[in-house]
Amino acid sequence: MVTKHGALTENIALLSLCGTTLEPLMDYTLPVDPPGAIHHHLSLQHEQQVAEAFAILLANTDDPNAVGAICVEEQPNATGLLIRMAVNSGSQQERTSTFDRIICALKRLTASKDEETFFKEIVVACQSRLLVRLRSSHAKSHRRHKVGRQAVISRLCDGIKVISRLRINPAATAAIKPHTDLLECAFAKLEAMSFTAAHSESGSQSLYCIISKVEMLLTSTDIVALLMLIPNDIPTWPESAVRSLVKSLNGLAQYRSAAHYLLRRAHKDPIFHHLKIAEISSETYPEGLGTWEPLSVQHGIFTRSLQGYDKSVQRSEISSQLKSMLGMSHSELESSIDCHATMTKRVHAEIQLLLYSMKHPPLLQPRIICSNKHACLLCALFIQAHGKFHIRSCHGRLYPRWRIPLPQIMTLPESSRLQIQQAVDDLNQFLEAKLRTYLLRSRSRYTFSSVGSTVT
Ligand SMILES: [Zn+2]
Repeated sequence: MVTKHGALTENIALLSLCGTTLEPLMDYTLPVDPPGAIHHHLSLQHEQQVAEAFAILLANTDDPNAVGAICVEEQPNATGLLIRMAVNSGSQQERTSTFDRIICALKRLTASKDEETFFKEIVVACQSRLLVRLRSSHAKSHRRHKVGRQAVISRLCDGIKVISRLRINPAATAAIKPHTDLLECAFAKLEAMSFTAAHSESGSQSLYCIISKVEMLLTSTDIVALLMLIPNDIPTWPESAVRSLVKSLNGLAQYRSAAHYLLRRAHKDPIFHHLKIAEISSETYPEGLGTWEPLSVQHGIFTRSLQGYDKSVQRSEISSQLKSMLGMSHSELESSIDCHATMTKRVHAEIQLLLYSMKHPPLLQPRIICSNKHACLLCALFIQAHGKFHIRSCHGRLYPRWRIPLPQIMTLPESSRLQIQQAVDDLNQFLEAKLRTYLLRSRSRYTFSSVGSTVT
């Protein structure tokens, strides 16, 4: 017996059985002068910066199930920008309120270019999220297992104290110490507040002070080089801990950069005086079964190898290797694929935006799809295969519950339907190439790092 599922479902199931971290973190470079750019008022780089700024500012949770994505639809004749947003699941009401507050402040402060007041407004609009990013005790985090992690500012101060104690670079440590002392003090003040105060005006003032100091510290010091001086034989300070701390600090400072960018652009460019937001309702693509399948092959690589009719798949190579590498019998492998096929799956926010644009093609097609996190492997590969949009980065993990909605539930213009079908076929080929690579590497005792519990 062979599996009865489509090729994409089968191949995603097989890859997720092999491991879910399939690629390292990848950053993509934007093309410099893409064809068609002359029709847009915003350059591709500015479209990316606007999308990134709103992706950062509108992110309201650390819940991986509620990841959001943004694209920017330029209105004809440079009459305005429409920020279209989608989330993997859940409501977008809070994100809309945050946007309204930011836009209201932007309109009020553009003429005066009062960046400090605008940034204070941003801090108020993003207060809950900033408390989570700081890992404050006042944070309302969805990630219960991460709540116990040391607060970012305390971690930074500890790192500087280690360098200072070991007298590794006394001049650099002496220069940074007054800044970290001030930060420690400001953070202690925030932590000493009641929960209510931390979420009210006094909390936002304290956050404004902390984020501004972090941003100043990062622009005036090579903090990565300094923290890298910590000897890696200290068990609490592996290199990964330094990188994670630097990422957290940059995550805080980016609020200041986003505020600076938006206010500066609004002052220079009238298109920023007409910013609107629209959401793709989470009910448009509810969780469900099945995914759009390729037409080029009926079944995945495992079933084809058993059937033996596909010359590109060597019968003895694929099915027997998969069984031995995964330590599964034939029936166990089939039932694992069945199990995957019957799991409900999600249409990720990035894919929702792509499909919306294909279903309702605007006069000026957005060119960037930007998430507040790195894109997952399947979103990145599909967007790349589709070829009409750019993303900034991909974290390389495969989420087995990913899907493209079934074609029969979408009314698409014929050209869009053909483009998506082609992208689905290409994605399937990418995945089969990865499966082959996995098998080859496994044969040379290559081990994938796996985060098997990741099912988003
Ligand atoms: Zn994704």
